[in-house]
Amino acid sequence: MKITEVRVFQKESDDKKLRAFATVTFDDCFVVRDIKIIEGSRGYFVAMPSRRVKEPCQRCRHRNVVHARYCNQCGAPLESRDQSKEHFEVEQLQSRERQSEHRDIAHPITAEFRETIQKAVLNAYEKEKTKLGEKVS
Ligand SMILES: [Zn+2]
Repeated sequence: MKITEVRVFQKESDDKKLRAFATVTFDDCFVVRDIKIIEGSRGYFVAMPSRRVKEPCQRCRHRNVVHARYCNQCGAPLESRDQSKEHFEVEQLQSRERQSEHRDIAHPITAEFRETIQKAVLNAYEKEKTKLGEKVS
């Protein structure tokens, strides 16, 4: 599988670590949007698009973010599914939930292809930064 196009979009955002978004085309026929370019403590890295996992309210079925205490739609207290569990099980469940709070929508399976995507996206981002720098000066 080849990456045939990368487009980078600078984004105004309150999140200073989030520097830009990328849209990547594979084999001229499949597009993945909302890939994030993030500035980490060890340089830039690429995060695949993800969504927050949500859970439905018992009363109105409105889907609230995981860990919300009250329903955003009807105000009903959201039952903690942990209540009946033994303490050690609760802890296990909570750590699993933290990890799964964000779930990737699309992502590479191999480390090798993850690296391929990251390089292509970061190259495009560097070019875009250079272009913007030239415009400004
Ligand atoms: Zn509700």
